[in-house]
Amino acid sequence: MPLEIVTVPCRTDNYAYLLHEASNGATALIDAPEAAPIEAELAARGWGLEAIWITHHHDDHIAGVDALRGAFGARVLGAAADAHRLPPLDATLEDGSAFTFAGHEVQVMDVSGHTIGHIAFYVPDAGAAFTADSLMACGCGRVFEGTMPQMWGSLSRLAALPRETLICSGHEYTAANARFALTIEPQNAALISRNEAIIAARAAGQPTVPSPLALELETNPFLRANLPEMKAGLGLPEASDAEAFAEIRRRKDAF
Ligand code: ZN
Ligand code: FE
Repeated sequence: MPLEIVTVPCRTDNYAYLLHEASNGATALIDAPEAAPIEAELAARGWGLEAIWITHHHDDHIAGVDALRGAFGARVLGAAADAHRLPPLDATLEDGSAFTFAGHEVQVMDVSGHTIGHIAFYVPDAGAAFTADSLMACGCGRVFEGTMPQMWGSLSRLAALPRETLICSGHEYTAANARFALTIEPQNAALISRNEAIIAARAAGQPTVPSPLALELETNPFLRANLPEMKAGLGLPEASDAEAFAEIRRRKDAF
C-alpha cells in the first residue's frame, strides 16, 4: 500500500504535510505551523496523529506542536542538535540516522544553512523528501544561521536524491522564486514554461508543491550553481560552486 501525502496550507504561506499509511491507519505530520487547519484536515479524513516530525526551530514550523500533541498524543521528533530550542522531544534524531514509520524507512538528513540543525526527512517508499526551508520550490531558504558553503553542501546532498523524488517544501514562495530565477537564467526554456505553470496554478488557487526534484534540477538556480554556463552568466567563470551559489543567494536577498 503506497504512502499518501497530503499538503496542508497553514498561516499565510506555510505548508504542513501529512504522511499516511492506509494499511494500519498511521499518520505522521511534518511541521506544525498552526494546529487548526491540521486538525480540520485530520478530522475530515478520520485520521489520528501518531507522530510529529519537526524540521527546524522557527515559530512558523512549530507553533502548533503543543496543541496537536495534546489533542492526539503524538510523539514529537526533532534534531538532537536543535533540542534546546524545540518543543519537548520524545526522541532526538541525528544526521545520517534512520527510523521506521508504519513499516517504512525514514532517513534523517542534516540540511543546515537556513538554520543550524535544520533537518530534512527522506522517505524512499513515499518517493518524497520533506525539506521545509532548505530546498524550496524554485528556490531555497535564506541563509540565516549557517554559512553559504554549508547551505550549498546541504542543497547538493538533496540534489543527489533520485530525480523522481517529490520535494515537499515549507512555503508558497514559488511565484516570486520563479520571477527571480528568470533574472538569473532568462533563456532557460524549462524555467520559462515552469513560470507559466506556476502563474496558472496560483491563479487557480492551487499549491505549487510538492515539486519533482528533476524539475528543480532543470529550473532552480540554487541547484544549478555548479554549472559552467551558470557561472559564466553570473560573470564569475572561475568561481567555486559554493561561491556561485553565494552570489545567487545574495542577489535573491536583494531582489
Ligand atoms: Zn524557517
Ligand atoms: Fe519557514
